[in-house]
Amino acid sequence: MMYITEECIDCSACVDECEQKAIYNAGEEYELNGEMKGPLSEDHTFIVPELCDDCKSCVEVCAVDAIEEK
Ligand code: SF4
Ligand code: SF4
Repeated sequence: MMYITEECIDCSACVDECEQKAIYNAGEEYELNGEMKGPLSEDHTFIVPELCDDCKSCVEVCAVDAIEEK
């Protein structure tokens, strides 16, 4: 599972890169199974685990290496 660390500077590069639309800016709502959900973080860009397929495209575009696997 991919997650974004505290190193994130909220540049949005990964948001644009994710073809699964699994990454959202802080405070953004997202859609899951046809339902709108509240943001997973109000402070940082976040990844919705249920939408991520672990392709790791986002890792390559992050200039501060803030996306890790756990
Ligand atoms: S690993 Fe792939 S699917 Fe998951 S958040 Fe990153 S770009 Fe999106
Ligand atoms: S590319 Fe990196 S620094 Fe930019 S929003 Fe994504 S995780 Fe944060």
